[in-house]
Amino acid sequence: MRDENEVLDGLMQPRPLTIAHILERAERLYAHKEVVTADAERRTYADVTGGARRLAGALDALGVPIGARVATFASNNRRHLELYLGVPATKRVLHSLNIRLSPEHLEYIVGHAGDDVVFVDRGLLPRIWPSAARLPGVRHWVVLPDGTDTEIPADPRVRDYDELLDGAEPHTGSFEDAFTLADENLASGLCYTSGTTGRPKGVLYSHRSTVLHCLGTLAAGLIGLRESDVVMPIVPMFHANAWGLPYGAMMAGAALVLPGASAEPDHLLRLMAAERVTVAGAVPTVWTSMAPTLRDHDLSATRFLLGGGSAVPAALSETFRAATGVPITHSWGMTEVSPVGVIGGTRTQHRDATPAEQVAVRAAQGQPLPLVNVRIVDVETGRELPRDGTAIGELQVSGPWVAGGYFRVDTPESFTADGWLRTGDLATIDAHGYLRLVDRMKDLIKSGGEWISSVELEAAIAAHPAVAEVAVIGRPDPRWMERPVAYVVLHPGTTATADELTRHLGPMVAKWWLPDEFVFMATLPKTGTGKLSKTELREAVRIA
Ligand code: ADP
Repeated sequence: MRDENEVLDGLMQPRPLTIAHILERAERLYAHKEVVTADAERRTYADVTGGARRLAGALDALGVPIGARVATFASNNRRHLELYLGVPATKRVLHSLNIRLSPEHLEYIVGHAGDDVVFVDRGLLPRIWPSAARLPGVRHWVVLPDGTDTEIPADPRVRDYDELLDGAEPHTGSFEDAFTLADENLASGLCYTSGTTGRPKGVLYSHRSTVLHCLGTLAAGLIGLRESDVVMPIVPMFHANAWGLPYGAMMAGAALVLPGASAEPDHLLRLMAAERVTVAGAVPTVWTSMAPTLRDHDLSATRFLLGGGSAVPAALSETFRAATGVPITHSWGMTEVSPVGVIGGTRTQHRDATPAEQVAVRAAQGQPLPLVNVRIVDVETGRELPRDGTAIGELQVSGPWVAGGYFRVDTPESFTADGWLRTGDLATIDAHGYLRLVDRMKDLIKSGGEWISSVELEAAIAAHPAVAEVAVIGRPDPRWMERPVAYVVLHPGTTATADELTRHLGPMVAKWWLPDEFVFMATLPKTGTGKLSKTELREAVRIA
């Protein structure tokens, strides 16, 4: 008998999605796989998961409650990875702190998060310990040995990580079994956005969102991590969970290479060559710093390079393709999106495209990951705009690993009535769902009633061989409202004049896009996550 109105529930097991599973999977299947930290420390997943089990016992012994925020102030290293596992697997919340924050922001964030414990790399103590007196809520400071001999404060709240773990009773039995289905929504991680406008805001990830993001990025054809990979997150572990690469690598059983505290380009390249790294991820400023000496290293093992956090200029990606055979795959994301939302590269529809067209496709941010939806809307009316590759609107995004609110603040302006996240980015979307980011709303230059994309102009200037870094910002102009000014850093030992750069741009952009001025700089200011900071640049050159 068929009942037309019968609604059936599926009969599949109601199992929670948890980081505890990632831990136990690595322990069971990939115990032998390597985790290498820059200072030639070679460990295995068995060591790391064993460390996480002792850490679980240590957190219990310290009386750190379930749900408490456990902060890290650490570089990419093995002990940090143990915290990535042991903290959420015991239903505590991993709060990775940006090690480049100003004391003021750091104190605000630790206080706002209500951190109970801070785990800090020994060499980074001088950056955070001076704030300890203003952080009365932090009950314990645990120092992670990192090969440095930085002085450790004589204070009863301070202890050594290795001693703490050596003395701890390791957690035995399954972490995963302690999670109910409802527990998959428990908070697992906390990251604050850099707060370029207003106060930093906390994005509170759940076990479920983290596991789904991990699976989304593991999907073949996207980042597609596999067991045979050697994955090097150059992107810091405090930058939106290193874009999910550590959890992804563990889930896939790939080996991990963690570059430690140094972001020095030759150190990174030597490590990539020595460990035969197959997949690496970094922001464009870091890729840019590596570009001049790429050919001095054997990068023949490389199969996938990931770039995001700000636009990857086509010229930069092509430099890598020429030297290694692998372009930089472009990805768009934000802390609020766990962070990967969109991923680039060519698809079958681009097979017949000319090489130049393919370069242009790779410069686009790409298509949304499975389960992520994107749309563009008219900034004034909120009406959705067509996916025709030309209409420009505010990018909005929804999905199970997209923030639906911020930690302990109400910001209705960040979300639409139907629950989508307003990104503050301007983009076009074409008929294939390819997203091309035009600019951040606040960086777009308005000249004589027309828009100039600072991102596009920067990519065009960066294509000049002498240009190492460039930032374009709008300068107030009595006639045109704003005019573009380019701030340029040249590669050492090269020269280029403003006239030469203007001639170089000539065939690439409309005449009225040509910058009014090129200002040559020794360096450009960077944000805590290593991106060019236009806010600081504006302050430095006094353009409000
Ligand atoms: P912050 O705003 O502090 O830099 P995020 O790291 O979360 O914090 O940055 C998110 C923003 O970075 C996005 O909203 C977008 O403006 C920019 N962004 C990220 N990826 C890209 C990309 N591939 N191309 C251009 N811009 C990007």
